Amino acid sequence: MSDCLFCKIAEGKIPAKLVHQDQDTIAFEDINPQAPLHVLVIPRHHVAATMNDLTPVQDQVMGKLYRVAATIAKERGFAESGWRAVMNANRDAGQTVFHVHLHVLGGRQMAWPPG
Ligand code: AMP
Ligand code: ZN
Repeated sequence: MSDCLFCKIAEGKIPAKLVHQDQDTIAFEDINPQAPLHVLVIPRHHVAATMNDLTPVQDQVMGKLYRVAATIAKERGFAESGWRAVMNANRDAGQTVFHVHLHVLGGRQMAWPPG
């Protein structure tokens, strides 16, 4: 997707503070962090704009996003204290970038239910 911000980050065309990359996923610091830990984990390729577009082909990479998220949370020291993974879909959830991505948040008490 030529005009997708996260594709451009994945392709190295727009800079980001990368914290992880492998053949399927990349992870980078959110530019507007909402917690001491706020990393985005995304599929390297533009597999879906929102969760609404997922098909069984994406099951493996979508599962991997969570395992990468857990690895990052553990590395940052939040495994025991707690952390949250959030994926927004469309307007009411506040989605602004239409390349599926998992927010990894930690380092503060999270409200429940979320706002
Ligand atoms: P969402 O609202 O779920 O679509 O999340 C999009 C996230 O992308 C927001 O938390 C933004 O702060 C973040 N974001 C937008 N532009 C960038 C960027 N250039 N680098 C890193 N994070 C970004
Ligand atoms: Zn994309």
